[in-house]
Amino acid sequence: MKLENFYARVKVGIADKELKHRLQSLLDDVVSRLPDEKQFQIRGIIGFAKFDLMVKYWDCIQPNGVVVQELRKTGPIGFCNAYTTKTGDIYSFFICYMTDCFHSWSDDRIKGLIIHELSHLSCYWFDLKQEKPNLIKMNPKGREIRINQILGEYIDVPSHEYAEIEKQARAEAVRLGFEKEIEASDGKGLVFDEKKNCWRRIR
Ligand SMILES: [Zn+2]
Repeated sequence: MKLENFYARVKVGIADKELKHRLQSLLDDVVSRLPDEKQFQIRGIIGFAKFDLMVKYWDCIQPNGVVVQELRKTGPIGFCNAYTTKTGDIYSFFICYMTDCFHSWSDDRIKGLIIHELSHLSCYWFDLKQEKPNLIKMNPKGREIRINQILGEYIDVPSHEYAEIEKQARAEAVRLGFEKEIEASDGKGLVFDEKKNCWRRIR
């Protein structure tokens, strides 16, 4: 995909000054390799910031809202949120990456995470498209619930459903041509959950 086409719709904010140039060039590399598919032509925002700043940002926009809860749940790595119309068409997205650990990460590992979140967006898009004939037939409440299900809104971490969504995103990243990068980030994305006293995979 041509960079100017992508960035005409997607605004990028990099709050981490030290990493700004490196992250922009890694993102450019990923974007330039994306196919010209519809899910990458949606308006959106991509943000890079340290975890605490990201939580503060979202707490201002939507105090203790879904995103803040989600961030606390998934930990300081990455996050993809898609916004849909009432009939399940994605009209915008927000992806954020928490840069706390990036200093020690290789370029491929960071690109692996960048494509991972874009792959979630892509999966949401394909799943919603596939479900569209059923969504149209549902009543508004049922439809809203089904859309949120597809967007992974009710998923606990860790859980079987979560593992499935992660597997699907990794397969999508491979389909998009990022196998090397996914391998560099795969299996390393574990954080220790102090509350639950166990290791868990981050998305
Ligand atoms: Zn994930």
